[in-house]
Amino acid sequence: MIDKELKEIFDRGIFKGEMKFDEPMSAHTSLRIGGPADVMVFPEDPVSLKNVLLAAKKENIPVFILGGGTNLLVSDEGIEGLVISLKAFRGIEFTRDSDDKTVVLYVGAGEPLAGLLNFAQRNGCTGLESLTGIPGCLGGAVYMNAGSFGVELKDVIVSVAVMDMSGSISILEKDKLNFSYRNSNLPEGSIILSANVALLKDAPEDILRRMKEFLQKKKNTQPLGEPSAGCVFRNPEGAAAGRLIDVAGCKGMRVGGVEVSGAHANYFINKGRATCRDFLDLMELVKAKVKEHSGIVLEPEIKIAGRR
Ligand SMILES: Cc1cc2nc3c(=O)[nH]c(=O)nc-3n(C[C@H](O)[C@H](O)[C@H](O)COP(=O)(O)OP(=O)(O)OC[C@H]3O[C@@H](n4cnc5c(N)ncnc54)[C@H](O)[C@@H]3O)c2cc1C
Repeated sequence: MIDKELKEIFDRGIFKGEMKFDEPMSAHTSLRIGGPADVMVFPEDPVSLKNVLLAAKKENIPVFILGGGTNLLVSDEGIEGLVISLKAFRGIEFTRDSDDKTVVLYVGAGEPLAGLLNFAQRNGCTGLESLTGIPGCLGGAVYMNAGSFGVELKDVIVSVAVMDMSGSISILEKDKLNFSYRNSNLPEGSIILSANVALLKDAPEDILRRMKEFLQKKKNTQPLGEPSAGCVFRNPEGAAAGRLIDVAGCKGMRVGGVEVSGAHANYFINKGRATCRDFLDLMELVKAKVKEHSGIVLEPEIKIAGRR
């Protein structure tokens, strides 16, 4: 049924973009873990996105929105229904709201965060330097309220354009948004299409210098070159999850192909042929060790998706 309904919108020419069946999610996640999505689509424009959402709604097909897949653990059994990638929703533009000191940029959800940072640097716009080294797309970064070294996406957001599961688009201004630590708290079923971000003007060479410094700090403490999904657990109030995991003696702990990083204990690394099951089992072991050692119960920061 899912094939029929989706192939129909494709054949009728009301969906522009790619459509792939049984697409392995391991090819779309930084962890390189995850079984197949029943269907994965790459709509090229908002109308195609709306039409695919309506087709899914008609047949009660579950929908999952994928960004860069860098904060994601996908089940070995894959994802039921439809996975939507907004890769094509890229682009950065200056808006008319800029003045002498501030620049407001429109950024598409599929724009890699690194692309935004480089654009901002080249054009003398400061405010995002400390996010250097965070992979993924703007949509995922807004959804997660990604941040580092004391700056979060919420600090630069002016407004966010979202589509609901019926294809209606609305603009949510910053004062209507309720960002918190690694959470955008957007209304259920919101698909981020784009965001406007406000940055201050500064000299490109100073921005570049700060970006290099932040990246170096990260490289010194985080295993940026190995397959991971960033921090596995949220930092509990007043503590760093990585430190708690480290002092509980978990560095180097391994289940199957997944290992707790020696560089940063809150990163779990795919050492090769890792499965989602390995990852979940290691999470449980680490949680138990930390609870035993410090009495603190860790909560996941990564998003876990797919069949259970
Ligand atoms: C090496 C490494 C370092 C990292 N360092 C940091 C760091 O310093 N700070 C930090 O905060 N994070 C960090 N991360 C985690 C991750 O990169 C960020 O959370 C990133 O912003 C996630 O973006 P993404 O596009 O990959 O989202 P995904 O992983 O694809 O998705 C994450 C969640 O967002 C939802 N989502 C994605 N796009 C949309 C959209 N358009 N509309 C609605 N929902 C959407 C997904 O459904 C999912 O629930 C790191 C990850 C790695 C691998």
